[in-house]
Amino acid sequence: MAKEFVKDVTAMEDDFAKWYTDVVTKAELVDYSSVRGSMIIRPYGYALWENVKEALDQRIKATGHENVYMPLFIPESLLTKEKDHIEGFAPEVAWVTHGGDEKLAERLVVRPTSEVLFCEHYSNIIHSYRDLPKLYNQWSNVVRWEKTTRPFLRTLEFLWQEGHTAHATAEEAQEETIRMLEEYAYICEEFLGIPVVKGQKTEKEKFAGADATYTIETLMHDGKALQSATSHNFGDGFAKAFNIQYLNKDGKQAYVHQTSWGFTTRVIGALIMVHGDNRGLVIPPRIAPTQVMIVPIAQHKEGVLDYAYALKNSLASSIRVGIDASDKKPGWKFNEYEMKGIPLRLEVGPKDIEAGQVVLARRDTGEKMTVAADRVKEVIHVLLETIQRDMFDKALEHREANTASVTSYEEFVTLFDGKNPGFVKAMWCGERACEDKIKEETSATSRCIPFEQESIGNTCVCCGKEATKLVYWAKAY
Ligand SMILES: [Zn+2]
Repeated sequence: MAKEFVKDVTAMEDDFAKWYTDVVTKAELVDYSSVRGSMIIRPYGYALWENVKEALDQRIKATGHENVYMPLFIPESLLTKEKDHIEGFAPEVAWVTHGGDEKLAERLVVRPTSEVLFCEHYSNIIHSYRDLPKLYNQWSNVVRWEKTTRPFLRTLEFLWQEGHTAHATAEEAQEETIRMLEEYAYICEEFLGIPVVKGQKTEKEKFAGADATYTIETLMHDGKALQSATSHNFGDGFAKAFNIQYLNKDGKQAYVHQTSWGFTTRVIGALIMVHGDNRGLVIPPRIAPTQVMIVPIAQHKEGVLDYAYALKNSLASSIRVGIDASDKKPGWKFNEYEMKGIPLRLEVGPKDIEAGQVVLARRDTGEKMTVAADRVKEVIHVLLETIQRDMFDKALEHREANTASVTSYEEFVTLFDGKNPGFVKAMWCGERACEDKIKEETSATSRCIPFEQESIGNTCVCCGKEATKLVYWAKAY
């Protein structure tokens, strides 16, 4: 293949960060804007997000939630009502100080998250046990003034959904918190093809203002972890700060129990770093904006384009199918759609038409196969499901091959020394001091206390004191 047709991508083994940047720009997912750390999500990137969003939105609604929209601005006095919350977010909020030429009487924050807006609203609309539960969700953008940024992984502004719920009892709030974490895990595994570790964050790593934070953690190709979504149980802390009370069935005033949970454009970053390879993106069929791309061969010959378009029309009722009938060379097109990670390529030329067949090529394995034209639809359906499953299995295999169990601190330190070893499972005493020491000496952080606990010893890997909790550790994005 002629070199000029290939969009060069840095090999991930040589420089993973550069590989990532090459892929997000050359696959036309994003472009940089004139504000540092803000990204333009281009049509292909946005189509990907829309598919993820649609899948999740259906699950959010199916579990009884309603979508709402809250304002972009938060008055300073509102944000500062819950002490831990403002302490957590103060360093990274963007302030609005002027409206036109006029200085505002009170500064406004561009929402970094909307807990306080929901709390204020809930305090106005919840009065009785009959008003509960309130199960609200919003799809929006938020702004956090991050110091270092990377497309999708960390940007000043990002897109997400944030669920905010209020319940009568602590038990209901806890159930909701876990239910939504499970929904996130489902979307990650079934749609994005990314295996997750579900667990609870330590006190040090939990959300500002939460009683407990739960997370799904995923492992990237380079051995670093990515926190892919979180779900928080607030207890009644926010309810007390915002006076969200209701009259319970016994006729007494009681505080509500709240949750919040969020899923962001960050998962597009996970998708790239879990499945991508040196030829570019590899997109799982269920969320691929285009599942099959038809590339006509020798399309100037009579009948080829008509045949290719007829094929496209026959597939379009149940498959997201595209066709590239531009005058670019087939080799350029092959590279382009490999770069974009389209799960299947369909080639058809004069010889194929004569023989009553087409050629299919899998993006994930590179495998090519000849298929009878009258069976192509059913074969594609089966192949798309196979690719979806194989991609998940491959990612799971990678994670398992890059998960170690460690009992000595010496081994722990060696594993992380200048490397990203993947997940390291080790016992922990529960003390913040050990977490701090581990982070300082190895750059690894506690990712979560997994729901699936196992005992690989009974002493803390760091201090040697008694330990009952197994923790996943990793260097993380
Ligand atoms: Zn310890």
